[in-house]
Amino acid sequence: MAEIILTGDRPTGKLHLGHYVGSLKQRVVLQDSGDFDKIFIMIADAQALTDNADNPEKIRTNILEVALDYLSVGIDPDRSNILIQSQIPALAELSFYYMNLVTVARLQRNPTVKSEVEMRGFSSNLPVGFFAYPISQAADITAFKATVVPTGEDQEPMIEQTREIVRKFNQTYGEVLVEPRILLSDNKVCKRLPGTDGKAKMSKSLGNGIYISDDPETVKKKVMSMYTDPDHIQVSDPGKVEGNTVFTYLDAFSVPDDFGEFLPEYSCLDDLKDHYKKGGLGDVKIKKFLINVLERELSPIRKRRSEFEKDIAGVYDILKAGTAAANKVADSTLAEAKEAMKINYFDDSALIRSQEEMYNN
Ligand code: ATP
Ligand code: MG
Repeated sequence: MAEIILTGDRPTGKLHLGHYVGSLKQRVVLQDSGDFDKIFIMIADAQALTDNADNPEKIRTNILEVALDYLSVGIDPDRSNILIQSQIPALAELSFYYMNLVTVARLQRNPTVKSEVEMRGFSSNLPVGFFAYPISQAADITAFKATVVPTGEDQEPMIEQTREIVRKFNQTYGEVLVEPRILLSDNKVCKRLPGTDGKAKMSKSLGNGIYISDDPETVKKKVMSMYTDPDHIQVSDPGKVEGNTVFTYLDAFSVPDDFGEFLPEYSCLDDLKDHYKKGGLGDVKIKKFLINVLERELSPIRKRRSEFEKDIAGVYDILKAGTAAANKVADSTLAEAKEAMKINYFDDSALIRSQEEMYNN
């Protein structure tokens, strides 16, 4: 069976380090591995509109930002299809039919929907579209017959919901859809990177992010004001490493070579952690190290971004070509699904013939 990837992001803002370690970095590795027959990377503007209906301008401007973020981290349009969700009509059509296969109670139980509804303060004003977005996400994944979805941990319940829809559809109408599997990062902290405030996950909506496109000065400022251990007041005090965001980010980003290059007095991250726990290591020192580590990762990305920024029309051409290729695949899945659902009247000559006979013989 073909191995196909589908992933995506909402164009509600520029992409941040949570996206980078949770999904983007892995997408590039998978793309470069050559193990996949097709890769679809979706800018989920229609989904973003489900909780931004009154602010289409925000979504419109961020499509380019997300596209630039993709290209700058190494998504290669020759090997990965970048597409814009709203420009694929088959997705809306599939969602409409999948709605009949999911109960309201099941959606209400979806833990990600629950926490996102709470986070956005929706109570009696919850838009139906937002409530139902796991269904549209199932359409996105299945339209491309994706087998693998590389994503952060918050999306686990969404993939489970998709798998249920696939099973229900196939049982009811025949084997058309493919059950996807989630691919999480191997690194525990990368599955759900916390924000710079140390609280919830880093999220565009919470404003606690370091953005892939942030300039060095901004990265520095954000790291210097990052949450550490509130009880680590004097340098000599013993410090806590668990829940200390600087160490969490070092777990996510540092590589063994960083020590030789930026902090030769320590041999590895465990060595640094031990010293911090014992006392005698100040926050400023670990923050400066983290800034160097992040810059090592971000500066080549920034450089690539600035090249793509010189040709914005070219970026839109990439999106247009990726969307056209995606439409072909999604249209073909939709045709198969409609045939299985027996709503392909005009293409079904047997149906027309048999009814013709019934009435005229
Ligand atoms: P929004 O606040 O608009 O929902 P977001 O920051 O949650 O934005 P999404 O576009 O919803 O970002 O998520 C895109 C992808 O990035 C998903 O696969 C999601 O799992 C992953 N992701 C987002 N934030 C993180 C994070 N902090 N850690 C790991 N993965 C993340
Ligand atoms: Mg989100």
